[in-house]
Amino acid sequence: MSVPEANKDFDEFSHDEAPEEKALRPGRLDEFVGQPLLKDRLSVSIRAALHRKEPLDHVLLSGPPGLGKTTLACIVAAEMGGRFHSTSAPALGRPGDLARLLTLLEKDDVLFIDEIHRLTRQCEEILYPAMEDGFIDFIVGEGMAAQSVKVPLKPFTLVGATTRSGSLTAPLKSRFGIDLKLEFYDLPELTKIVKRSAGLLGVQISENAAAVIAERARMTPRAANRLLRRIRDYATVENVNIIEPDFALRALGKLGIDSLGLTDLDRKLLTLVIERYHGGPVGIRTLASLLDEEEHTIEEDHEPFMLRIGLLEKTPQGRVSTQKAAIHLGLKIVPNEIQQSLF
Ligand code: ADP
Repeated sequence: MSVPEANKDFDEFSHDEAPEEKALRPGRLDEFVGQPLLKDRLSVSIRAALHRKEPLDHVLLSGPPGLGKTTLACIVAAEMGGRFHSTSAPALGRPGDLARLLTLLEKDDVLFIDEIHRLTRQCEEILYPAMEDGFIDFIVGEGMAAQSVKVPLKPFTLVGATTRSGSLTAPLKSRFGIDLKLEFYDLPELTKIVKRSAGLLGVQISENAAAVIAERARMTPRAANRLLRRIRDYATVENVNIIEPDFALRALGKLGIDSLGLTDLDRKLLTLVIERYHGGPVGIRTLASLLDEEEHTIEEDHEPFMLRIGLLEKTPQGRVSTQKAAIHLGLKIVPNEIQQSLF
């Protein structure tokens, strides 16, 4: 099959990504800020694989959205000198689609599957022999005449990303030789990311203003970059050449971002739990419908940070807000009669 055709096949299943986001991705491991332990482990494995002239073992990256999973997958391809192909489990409808993608891979290519915990059982079964022994099983014919044909694959590296490593099946998880967990970023790391991105976007920003943005970036590089771009919009229309802390704070206020980095929706969610449900517990489905949002969006994009900094807690009965959340919002948690009778 010719190369242009192969690329077209990959495009069909590739998942969308904002061009702005692509432009800010670090291209090599030494440009990737933070995650020192993860970087160290990955760097040793990459150097060892290059030294042995073998493909890198399959890599599983887990952690909340926006921490750099896709970026690291691209970096793996660049460091190994292979091509990068990106797809996501929901985009891979039929097992045949995945089988076809696997047969199109060249030696040292990286196949990145985002949201890998959402793969169907049939897709997983295609992956097992592909990851372990480098072949896929095709069934040719039907009924009594059906025959299994083994198709060999070129040595490739699968990089799977997940926001829920606990939802991965044990057989799939065990086939990743390198299992890495991304952590939230600290303030100096995020400040460095803001300054790096400002440089790439041609934005002048003072050290203190970069720290102001970092402080409100929910410990997440994607959020830091997003805030920087929106503040740059204000700087453009107001003809401001250098972003200083005062200007950044004013713009953040207009964007509805508060001192902890909470958005309007975060604050609405916490207020609902505190005022309408007396601090909770309240089920995610109820919250999603009252906020007119997808459950998935709340669970993936809003909760992880609020759980991490102790504004919200997850219990088997539902979400519970903490005193810290009430104090931050200037509210009071008033337990209802049933809750009072429990104390
Ligand atoms: P994920 O796949 O985990 O959702 P991405 O890899 O898409 O996250 O990262 C989101 C954005 O954050 C990217 O545009 C990238 O530029 C930036 N980013 C993520 N991690 C880092 C990092 N460690 N250093 C610099 N920029 C980063």
